[in-house]
Amino acid sequence: MRKFKELAELFQELEKTSSNLKMIDILADFLKKISPEEGKITAYLLQGKIAPDYQGLELGLAEKLVIRSLALGLKEDINKIEKLYKETGDLGLVAEKLIKNTKEELTIKEVFEELKKIALSQGKGSQERKLQLLAILIKKSLPIEAKYLIRSVLGTLRLGASDMTFLYALSKVLTGSKEGKKILEHAFNVLSDLGQVAYIALSSGIDKLKNLDPQVGIPVRMMLAQRVKEIKEIKENIKNDVFVEVKYDGERVQAHLGDKEIFLYSRRHENITHQFPDLVSELRKINVKNAILEGEVVAIDKNGNLQPFQILMQRRRKYDIIEYSQKIPIVYFVFDLIYLNGKSLIQEPLDKRKEKLEEILSNKLKESEKIKLAKYEKVKSNDEDRIEKLFIEAIKIGGEGVMIKDSKSIYEAGVRAWRWIKFKKDYKDELVDTFDVVVIGGIYGTGKRAKTYGSLLVALYDPKKNKYYSFTKVGAGFTDEDLENLPKILDKYKIKEKSKLVEAEIDVDVWFEPKVVMEIKGADLTISPVHTVLKDKIKKGGIALRFPRFIRWRDDKDPTQATTIDEVYEIYKRQ
Ligand code: AMP
Repeated sequence: MRKFKELAELFQELEKTSSNLKMIDILADFLKKISPEEGKITAYLLQGKIAPDYQGLELGLAEKLVIRSLALGLKEDINKIEKLYKETGDLGLVAEKLIKNTKEELTIKEVFEELKKIALSQGKGSQERKLQLLAILIKKSLPIEAKYLIRSVLGTLRLGASDMTFLYALSKVLTGSKEGKKILEHAFNVLSDLGQVAYIALSSGIDKLKNLDPQVGIPVRMMLAQRVKEIKEIKENIKNDVFVEVKYDGERVQAHLGDKEIFLYSRRHENITHQFPDLVSELRKINVKNAILEGEVVAIDKNGNLQPFQILMQRRRKYDIIEYSQKIPIVYFVFDLIYLNGKSLIQEPLDKRKEKLEEILSNKLKESEKIKLAKYEKVKSNDEDRIEKLFIEAIKIGGEGVMIKDSKSIYEAGVRAWRWIKFKKDYKDELVDTFDVVVIGGIYGTGKRAKTYGSLLVALYDPKKNKYYSFTKVGAGFTDEDLENLPKILDKYKIKEKSKLVEAEIDVDVWFEPKVVMEIKGADLTISPVHTVLKDKIKKGGIALRFPRFIRWRDDKDPTQATTIDEVYEIYKRQ
């Protein structure tokens, strides 16, 4: 049984390094020493979680409560703690400073069990219970333990080790190199649970994770699409026939139909079942033993016309769910089937999956108002005229464009490959596509914008290095209301110094943790001496977006799902 101190020391070491390769080595050395159970815990705590996202288990500890817990656990005056917090801006440091305990007591397992108890305390009186439980842990902590314990519970660890860093380290432990990474990554894409992957790999070996099948009730990381600027590029990337399908402007939903229960998962694996009672009751009518479907939920108006994403977002709420399900009706446009009656279909080609999907939907649900097949047509990948026509039709009915899918492709969980291609278009002479960027900094406004930010520094993601590179500054496209809301959306991610995940050379008034994703559009890509996207490769400067404009927030995307530097490089080359 390993001491919690060792985990705290690991966190300290990771905190000090910004090199991903070094982080992999540090993590691998640690994983070699610990048990599978401890490996699982390490994975969760590194992610700042205590369970995979889909379980929705959260600690629910706000700063105020942690301050009270510290006061109770350390028998210190609350004012003193608040004062120290004001000075340092980090309750982890405050705890470290105030703790006198020198007795090594806590084990990794014990700390995790207690954190789970904190998360599971819900309902009446739970805040007090959480406070007491945390106070007991604090009392037993060494200074270094308390520092990382507090940061863990507040979600402010910011070590910079990504899920992929962890999987590399795991591969190193199991195969001595990065050889096992592919298997591990696939397992992670299917299980969506880093802790469970670590546990299985460390206890049963990597072979146990080979060709893992999806399971009903556990969200599969969703397959992603590449993008093209012109239709003629499609045939260069896909040789087989393609399905040209409407790209609906809604929310991607994976529906798990179990023997008894139905679950709906978002792209970020949140369990959103409760938000769509109208869809759940309709899904119950599908005549299968079990299945996993994928599609887009779209809002419609009284006449059945498709409504934009923003309208659907009003259905994301805690209260008045039934009222809003009547006020904003939806349609679920299903486009994939990855599991049916006890069998995985992820290795089956898309045309087979579509066939089965049509079979199960045509049985009973032919007339369903709420569940429809996504509209598509099968064409040759070089039939540019037909694709163009389908694209125009898609736009006419309220789609964002089209998705072009290789008819022979398997379902590659979590992967963005040239099997699915998205094609969106703006009719103006501007840059064709939009970018999902991560907000990393803010510049205070003046005049009308005095109480908010005048512009935001935004970045693209590099999954290989797990870093965010500055791409442009966005000040246009916001409505007055958007502007007013900026501090409310962003200020909780304010940090004192630039995050070590961020590569930026511009000065800003405020740095943010790279958390919030928004969609922007611009005129063209250019080389800029101040931005850092692919600066190493291009030398003269980094790739930057000119005349950017805010389009909308992308709450459905996690920062690691933002547009990548490689995607932008492709667009830049073509330009
Ligand atoms: P983007 O969010 O622009 O990267 O585009 C990918 C998203 O388009 C997916 O995650 C889906 O939410 C959405 N989408 C809409 N229609 C389809 C479709 N027919 N097939 C696949 N994805 C679709």
